[in-house]
Amino acid sequence: MSGSLSIILAKPRGFCAGVTRAIETVEKALQKFGPPVYVRHEIVHNKFVVESLRKKGAIFVDQVEQIPAGSITIFSAHGVSDQVEEDAKAKNLDVIDATCPLVSKVHREAKKYEEQDFEIILIGHKGHPEVEGTSGKVKKEVILVTSEEDAKNVEIKNPNKIAYVTQTTLSVDDTKKIVDILEKRFPALQRGLATKDICYATQNRQDAVRALTKMVDILLVIGAQNSSNSNRLRDLGEESGLNSYLINSSDDIDPNWLKNVKNIGLTAGASAPEILVQEVIFKIKQISGSKVIVSDMDGIEESTVFALPRKVRK
Ligand code: SF4
Repeated sequence: MSGSLSIILAKPRGFCAGVTRAIETVEKALQKFGPPVYVRHEIVHNKFVVESLRKKGAIFVDQVEQIPAGSITIFSAHGVSDQVEEDAKAKNLDVIDATCPLVSKVHREAKKYEEQDFEIILIGHKGHPEVEGTSGKVKKEVILVTSEEDAKNVEIKNPNKIAYVTQTTLSVDDTKKIVDILEKRFPALQRGLATKDICYATQNRQDAVRALTKMVDILLVIGAQNSSNSNRLRDLGEESGLNSYLINSSDDIDPNWLKNVKNIGLTAGASAPEILVQEVIFKIKQISGSKVIVSDMDGIEESTVFALPRKVRK
């Protein structure tokens, strides 16, 4: 391939405060207590991160039953249900909770609505661990709404006592459409306590990509296939009419994608480390065979930092 290429990097991109905190929690726990440290579920949805922690002595499991009694156990950034907490207690696990504080906030909202006897709609993706965790924070069954179609058809026992919470990593635009439908159908719908549960990092990365799509011919999103926020970034690229690809790493790049392309937009989901961005840039330079200009788009600086869980603070 020849001809000059430019790569414009989204700003902000990559790690959010909740992911940074979760990864540091595992690293500090390994330093403080020594391996093995058990982690329920992938600490964040990124294979590169999981593999590097595995090499340091973290053992990833899907269920609490797989963890030997009394072990140091970390809950992932996505949060867990009350049942998982109870199972951990029954096995006398020494739990360090790396649930993102912004997910915990949604848990508190859901519990508050339950105490006030609201029926609770949860807007989110079926099977996502955050949705399982939030659903399992309340005793009554939550009503899962995933799409506009669901919002049009959902049936509520008492439309005068109804509230909603959402997954933190949804599409801002799609969620607004869903909420609009629900509000029209159920005027008494109580908004989430913080008006919206989609987190700052999801919002900022989507805003950045929306602006980036206007400057580029193709969008590459680094992130795992099971990463909700990364998928939403790819979706935004597609909605804007660009060829948009969600890639795990530089290995996934097909040189054919870059044919007749001048400006490449590159971003990373909230659980994808910056090293993968740098590897993608390197790979594009190799493919291009000519000068590649790399620049950051104008974007906001994020300053959110979350304190580590108490057990690993020192
Ligand atoms: S994407 Fe948002 S909710 Fe999820 S870990 Fe990051 S800051 Fe927390």
